[in-house]
Amino acid sequence: MRVRHPDGQVFSFDAGALCLELSSISGGEGFRARFELLHSPGDFVRWAFAGRLDLAGWGLRPEDVVATEEHLALVKRLREAIWAGAWATATGSAIARVDADVLNEVAGGAVPVPEIGPELRRTWQRPVRADQLATLFARDAVTTLTPPTATRVRMCAADNCALIYLDTSRPGNRRWCSMERCGNRAKVRSHRSREDRP
Ligand SMILES: [Zn+2]
Repeated sequence: MRVRHPDGQVFSFDAGALCLELSSISGGEGFRARFELLHSPGDFVRWAFAGRLDLAGWGLRPEDVVATEEHLALVKRLREAIWAGAWATATGSAIARVDADVLNEVAGGAVPVPEIGPELRRTWQRPVRADQLATLFARDAVTTLTPPTATRVRMCAADNCALIYLDTSRPGNRRWCSMERCGNRAKVRSHRSREDRP
């Protein structure tokens, strides 16, 4: 997904998992409020279309998704639980029970129903509801934030960056949110420090 930082830089960020895409780059509470992208139910639909759910790949258009203020509130409550759970997982502590309970509750909701459409292509029964999408994010969080993938949930190694991702690289040595952003800065820094050496 392409991410626009408030400082103006646009860079690509692969969250590695559906749930972390929601918790890392759509905004949130506290210091994440300045990154908020989901101001209205329609914002969530547009954001979801740009992400790894691949809604267009399922033959859907934004108008096929119903999103209400209530759905948006559910998404945001879920997002905070994923964020807290991902933070705990990435920093080596246990997920708080209260956050696990929210993930479980939302994961128990209805999901979109796949069907073979009139043109014999895969699609989902319409309308799709935004709370059904929330269920998909929650179910992904349940599997991502637990073993065996939990040890691959990492925070960007830069001091001033809190982007959390699932490291899906084969060797498991991903360190940065994005090579275009923190990876490149680290490269420039280490290059400079080599040049500074007497
Ligand atoms: Zn970073």
